[in-house]
Amino acid sequence: MSSFFSTLNEADCCGCLGCVSVCPNSAIGVITNRKGFLYPQIDETKCIHCGACVRFCQFSNTILPPKDKVESYVCVLNNKYELNSSSSGGVFFAVSDYVLKNGGVVYGAVMDDDFYVRITRADNVNERNQMRRTKYVQGIMGDSYDKIKKDILEGKIVLFSGTPCQCLAVKQYLGESDNLILLDFICHGVPSPQVFIDYLEYVEKITKSKVKNFYFRSKEFGHVHSQHSEALCENGATYYMMPSADIYYKSFLANLMSRESCYNCPFASTERITDITMGDAWGSVAKELNSLNGISTLIVNSEKGRNIINQIMDSMEFKQVEIMDRLQPQLKYPAKKPIDSNIWWQKYISKGLKGTKKISFSPKERMINFSMESMIRICNYIHKPEIYKKFLLKFWK
Ligand SMILES: Cc1cc2nc3c(=O)[nH]c(=O)nc-3n(C[C@H](O)[C@H](O)[C@H](O)COP(=O)(O)OP(=O)(O)OC[C@H]3O[C@@H](n4cnc5c(N)ncnc54)[C@H](O)[C@@H]3O)c2cc1C
Ligand code: SF4
Ligand code: SF4
Ligand code: SF4
Repeated sequence: MSSFFSTLNEADCCGCLGCVSVCPNSAIGVITNRKGFLYPQIDETKCIHCGACVRFCQFSNTILPPKDKVESYVCVLNNKYELNSSSSGGVFFAVSDYVLKNGGVVYGAVMDDDFYVRITRADNVNERNQMRRTKYVQGIMGDSYDKIKKDILEGKIVLFSGTPCQCLAVKQYLGESDNLILLDFICHGVPSPQVFIDYLEYVEKITKSKVKNFYFRSKEFGHVHSQHSEALCENGATYYMMPSADIYYKSFLANLMSRESCYNCPFASTERITDITMGDAWGSVAKELNSLNGISTLIVNSEKGRNIINQIMDSMEFKQVEIMDRLQPQLKYPAKKPIDSNIWWQKYISKGLKGTKKISFSPKERMINFSMESMIRICNYIHKPEIYKKFLLKFWK
């Protein structure tokens, strides 16, 4: 059985770590590669050659269920306060609220106190609220598979919300279940937990203080500018950066530092294995739904998904749309691996995140990055972070 893992191509392992949970003899451990991604590793002395891990691993053999017609919507939460705490239009809030109100439990991604993103369980609104907002880092499944199984066996309704590959692994682990609701998102790739931790250290060097809270996609400057990082530090210093000048965001959006499997992703299609798919909606739809603070794309994939949408219709404004008019690249093909990606990783491994600047930024962007970071340093030094915020907003407009 060892041959499976030793010959497994990095591009064929999405890091769901379902194989670890499925092994009956605890023979599979987890290692971190030089890019900071987690991979399974077999302890030969414990392996009993049962083949369960090989049967479980279906990532690169995924078969998507064919669809005659794609039923899709753009939608936005009616509750403006809750909309502000959602990255897009709040589909996750609406669906998870419905599940909790019906006595169910929710699994989703939480950023821990140590800034690792982990999949956790919530049976109340407070715990669920920790899951809200996008985290552009690979989430760690941990012992979620066993917990979900226990909940399902106890007859609970379970909502699992995560990447398409995590949803596939949950489905594989449990088999078909009427009580399991799968909610995935349009996904173009995940960066490694280690790169994100290094990024926070980088931010701390600029702010000269420990990061206390970190948000991706903050709506501080409105949804149009919501693609930016926001770090709040222990000493009151702040770090806001627009994506084109941010050392992490820029590389993320350019797909320079995604997991290798993301360039080989089988889920880049309107055909899905989940019940509902959510994503962002930008541009002209904002006007159609008259929402300046975030709009979601939603695709209905199953009868179960359709029933849930009927239940949440009152909490959101919906407009049915032709998905073909709004097709995102990641509903057509996986993110393309940039030619500079390997060099980016070489620089990262040898010189750290700072060493990747020349690859991620053009000379002009490097200038802007330098100026913005200097401004943050000065404004925090004189304890006037609000000056930088005003400057950033003006610069952005
Ligand atoms: C890595 C990543 C890549 C994405 N790429 C795209 C894209 O290319 N196109 C697009 O339209 N949308 C993309 N999205 C989805 C989008 O950013 C929003 O998360 C989504 O539309 C949900 O918004 P919301 O307002 O409904 O929910 P929110 O309240 O923002 O809830 C976010 C939901 O996403 C889950 N989640 C957040 N971070 C992670 C994570 N790291 N791993 C697993 N689950 C997570 C949470 O559990 C929660 O259920 C991506 C999201 C992530 C995390
Ligand atoms: S894709 Fe998942 S199940 Fe397959 S080897 Fe990787 S971690 Fe294990
Ligand atoms: S073959 Fe069986 S015992 Fe060996 S690692 Fe895979 S699941 Fe575990
Ligand atoms: S792009 Fe595909 S492989 Fe990568 S995290 Fe998203 S669903 Fe998984």
